[in-house]
Amino acid sequence: MKRLLSVIILVSIFALSSCEEDRVDPYYAYGTAMDTNVSICIYGGNKNAANSCLELLYDLEGQFSVTAKGSKLSALNRGELVEDKGHFYTLCGLANEICTLTEGAYNPCVYPLVKLWGFTTGNYNVPSEDKIAESIKLVNESKIVFKQEGICIEGDGAADFGGIAKGYASDVLREHLKSQGVDGAVISLGGNIATVGSKPDGKKWSIGINSPKGNGGLLGTLLLGECAVVTSGSYFRNFVENGKFYHHIIDPQSGEPADSGLVSVTVIAKDAALADGLSTAFFVMGMENAKIVAESLDVETVFVTENEIYVSSGLKEKFTPDSSVEGEYQIIYN
Ligand code: AMP
Ligand code: MG
Repeated sequence: MKRLLSVIILVSIFALSSCEEDRVDPYYAYGTAMDTNVSICIYGGNKNAANSCLELLYDLEGQFSVTAKGSKLSALNRGELVEDKGHFYTLCGLANEICTLTEGAYNPCVYPLVKLWGFTTGNYNVPSEDKIAESIKLVNESKIVFKQEGICIEGDGAADFGGIAKGYASDVLREHLKSQGVDGAVISLGGNIATVGSKPDGKKWSIGINSPKGNGGLLGTLLLGECAVVTSGSYFRNFVENGKFYHHIIDPQSGEPADSGLVSVTVIAKDAALADGLSTAFFVMGMENAKIVAESLDVETVFVTENEIYVSSGLKEKFTPDSSVEGEYQIIYN
């Protein structure tokens, strides 16, 4: 966990340092939410805009948390009908859409499996085959349904928005900043980076992609305008039992940590919620199937395996590999 935090801080600092180098009085706000470190760097607007972002984020966290008893998600998971037409409603709709787009590789009702493996509590364990089969059944029979009177879960399963909530929150924060007159900003929530506009000198943002080796290094940097850059990786949360490595991105079909040959996936899209949901799904689907979906949705990708970095063609001029990558990875543009 400590290593994860230092990696997250490193990316945030990296993104912010490109913010700082222009020195046109950026404002900063820092916090911790959604189980990760948060940093917001803004140009234009005022300090209140940066700080009110954190308030907004804590409010969203309060609604989407799978563990807080008072959250809207907990009410949904207790089988209640949730009357909401705000962010919770929108998030549920997006989660269902991404589930359909990825043929269930991203499935918001994966919670019974995530819980079974202990990824919610940190009490990690390798479950028995029977327990996995029981949980898969719950995942398969459940879905989030919109009724006249409210939102509910059909089936005995439960939802978990861990694969999409940070991205969604980044989108909300971005819109909030724009409404406050901010014309340049970097919002960083763990593996989720969302930018607003460009730097004050009109230049693009320099966004680092972490090395999945967890050594605090970067694989490379992307030079981008307003966009979202979201990374899912097995290095974010994991444990080892009897010498075997288990991570937190679950394949809803096998009920086990996805074993697609990927160690990290970065998705670059306009919307952070989409990029977040897709990065989780792409990790499950594996590169070949993921590429088909990515191309159909016009999003760019960086897939990382043990020894290779696959950079999608639209990023060819925008990606600069870090010098440390030489000899460690083969870089393939496709
Ligand atoms: P991310 O880091 O965005 O890839 O999200 C990983 C988190 O999403 C996990 O910690 C779980 O809470 C949740 N999750 C794991 N597997 C899936 C899946 N197949 N579909 C949806 N959410 C998932
Ligand atoms: Mg995700």
